Amino acid sequence: MTATALRHDWTLQEARSLFELPFNDLLFRAQTVHRQNFDPNEVQVSTLLSIKTGACPEDCKYCPQSGHYNTGLEKEKLLELEKVVAEARAARDKGASRFCMGAAWRSPTVKDMPYVLDMVREVKSLGLETCMTLGMLKPEQAAELAEAGLDYYNHNLDTSEKYYSHIITTRTYQDRLDTLENVRNAGMKVCCGGIMGMGEDEDDRVGMLVQLANLPQHPESVPVNMLVKVKGTPMENVEDLDPFEFIRVLAVARIMMPASHVRLSAGRETMNEQMQALCFLAGANSIFYGEKLLTTSNPEADADMALFRRLGIRPEKREQCASETQDEEAIVGALEYEASRHLFYDASLESA
Ligand code: SF4
Repeated sequence: MTATALRHDWTLQEARSLFELPFNDLLFRAQTVHRQNFDPNEVQVSTLLSIKTGACPEDCKYCPQSGHYNTGLEKEKLLELEKVVAEARAARDKGASRFCMGAAWRSPTVKDMPYVLDMVREVKSLGLETCMTLGMLKPEQAAELAEAGLDYYNHNLDTSEKYYSHIITTRTYQDRLDTLENVRNAGMKVCCGGIMGMGEDEDDRVGMLVQLANLPQHPESVPVNMLVKVKGTPMENVEDLDPFEFIRVLAVARIMMPASHVRLSAGRETMNEQMQALCFLAGANSIFYGEKLLTTSNPEADADMALFRRLGIRPEKREQCASETQDEEAIVGALEYEASRHLFYDASLESA
């Protein structure tokens, strides 16, 4: 198995040519690259918690948390540390290996930082990998988070530079690139991707992937989201994206960033199992597992386990400390339980 060389000099034309391949050729190529870099039957599993919900000053047109739109979302203040730790422990016991915490902020304030740093330390001490998304970061904030033990920072580009102003006006594309650079310089891993189906065209999808692949270092995680259309946001009635086009994005991301985890992220609940299986075939090898994906619901954990079982997928193994091995045992246990459950029929549940 030879790992594919990482490139940072992709041209738009090269990426376009990949998108234009016949679907089967594209998937075959993506799966070949995938197998050179990963175990094709392993998927990394993360859990996501919203630590501060709603009333965000930014105007991202897809987002129910933006204070600019009335989506009926219940706002919540920054969660207490104890609550976050309890959720992280529960996620770990359900088998997650990474715990992602998201706050609806433009950027963290001086007042917020100590709480956030405590969250990182406490969640990390449970043996979980930590990830946060808190908006824009200054170099010193990134350094503080890294010092507290934050492993990953999520900050998405969302779309191409060309289409960006149709989606967000309160921060620039360059602001986003600056935050990504600050995160890298602080020594953290980068989680960065985008959202498909926001009315962009294929050239925008190409442009976003070229931007990501030509960063000085590929993001370790590349979340590819399908827009979840939320009533009250400007995107509520945008036209559906062809599901095959979405799968093409995953496949091209896999080819251009061969060693990154490509995450099948928001919007998964609207995808049937066949579509999710095709996404895995295209090279997606990370999902969020659990009941909530920030403010949009995520497929029930049991359904995920059942799908893993039917596809022969295992949660990704990592070199790790004892507590992380326990995490894996927990998720393998959950898979085995799910596998054995259908053997027993409990009639008393039928009327529940
Ligand atoms: S995507 Fe993030 S920054 Fe944009 S409105 Fe939503 S919470 Fe705020």
